[in-house]
Amino acid sequence: MGTASSHQQRGVAVLGIFVADLAFRAADLPGVGQTIAGSGFAMGPGGKGSNQSVAAARAGAQVTFISKLGQDAFGANALALWAEEGITPRVPQVTTQPTGAAFIYVHEVTGANAIIVVPGAAALIDSADVDAAADAIRGARVFVTQLEQPAGAAQRGLELARAAGTVTVFNPAPALPFDDAVYPLCDFITPNEHEAAALSGIAVETVEDARRAGDFFLSKGVGCALITLGDKGALLHSASESVHLPVFHAGAVKETAGAGDAFNGGFAAALAEGASPLEAARFGSAVAAISVTRAGTAPSMPTRAEVDALLG
Ligand code: ADP
Repeated sequence: MGTASSHQQRGVAVLGIFVADLAFRAADLPGVGQTIAGSGFAMGPGGKGSNQSVAAARAGAQVTFISKLGQDAFGANALALWAEEGITPRVPQVTTQPTGAAFIYVHEVTGANAIIVVPGAAALIDSADVDAAADAIRGARVFVTQLEQPAGAAQRGLELARAAGTVTVFNPAPALPFDDAVYPLCDFITPNEHEAAALSGIAVETVEDARRAGDFFLSKGVGCALITLGDKGALLHSASESVHLPVFHAGAVKETAGAGDAFNGGFAAALAEGASPLEAARFGSAVAAISVTRAGTAPSMPTRAEVDALLG
């Protein structure tokens, strides 16, 4: 252990986006032409790919993050975050688009939200960018991507990973269309209940519904479907096993935004250490269970010691 090759073996390569989350609390959303005073503001790091990278890194994985930023203050914030978390960026900075940002309106009483996301520079990620990071994908044990950057780039990453024998984890979030040729490239697909329903056409509320959706994904050629069901846990469904994983209780639930990112990052980190799919899903569940007891997305990700303590 501790050699360059063992580091590579433990590695996780993530392709995805970073956005600066700008959260405004107010009594209401202003109408068009209206200006209102809000009661709070918070800024934090967001973007599913970046959040999943932080979750995997804190869980102990060597993480490379493949993305694109603008040359601006939010881009500098992203680079500082990854440096602090020990994440290696493969992230060109462009001058033609800003770093991604999200406007998040939060109702000051109910906590209900409304969001506008602008991926900015990350919307420019294309197959050539993924090819430029091919060595990182080939050198990793696990590759993870989502659908916040263009689907063609996700597909290219999955193709490179598959050709190199790197384990592929596809988190099809948000629920946007992609080519059917993506399914057979997935060792694991990790939709939440809404994404599973949108892709399969099967309403997913119960574990039994998730099994039916899981069968749909297997019929499309994925190796294993791992469908997350919020506080109902997750279903691991493959040709050889179909196991419901209930949630862990790590304390009072504070904020569930980012639970899926915690789950995916933890799952990938455990797979990269050689855990079985079931062990890795259990590990991801524990990472997510701790994250929901804290505010924020990336800042709420637990350390390895915290996860090990919960798992006992
Ligand atoms: P997403 O954030 O993508 O919607 P989910 O809400 O399905 O994802 O949550 C992902 C995982 O996080 C779940 O499978 C579960 O393991 C864990 N999780 C979600 N909500 C809770 C909760 N209230 N308590 C404990 N774990 C939770």
